[in-house]
Amino acid sequence: MSAASESIFAKIVAGQIPCHRVFESAAALAFLDINPLAEGHTLVIPKRAVERFDELTADEAADLGRAVREAATRVMRATGAPGYNLLQNNGSVAGQEVPYVHFHIIPRRPADGLGFRWLAQKSSPDALAALAKRMMNGG
Ligand code: 5GP
Repeated sequence: MSAASESIFAKIVAGQIPCHRVFESAAALAFLDINPLAEGHTLVIPKRAVERFDELTADEAADLGRAVREAATRVMRATGAPGYNLLQNNGSVAGQEVPYVHFHIIPRRPADGLGFRWLAQKSSPDALAALAKRMMNGG
């Protein structure tokens, strides 16, 4: 058993815990967040229990991306919000509380008070070039 397969979202996929579904495909499920940051705050998860996004297969990631797009379309239609954030946390250090990969779709409205602490740092062109080169070579 993994942390993901023992988590609350695995129980939602298994139908052991109820949720408010907004979209379902063979590979993914979208449902309303129980403690929304905004009306229409929706979570999209793969049906296979995996903790982090990079642990999905490429096909699973593609299926999840399709489901996120469909769910975002429905969220926008239902709420009429003029924009939204896609948020996806991996690891407790990144703010992930439920150890099961999920995308947040968070509708945004003017002056809604939501936001990030976006503490941008300075970097040198040499440091950026060296890091990008390592990543181009696979990391
Ligand atoms: P994280 O911090 O892991 O990125 O986000 C977890 C999200 O799951 C939170 O926004 C929280 O409100 C939501 N959540 C936690 N438990 C449940 C639940 O049982 N049902 C639903 N629908 N959402 C949940």
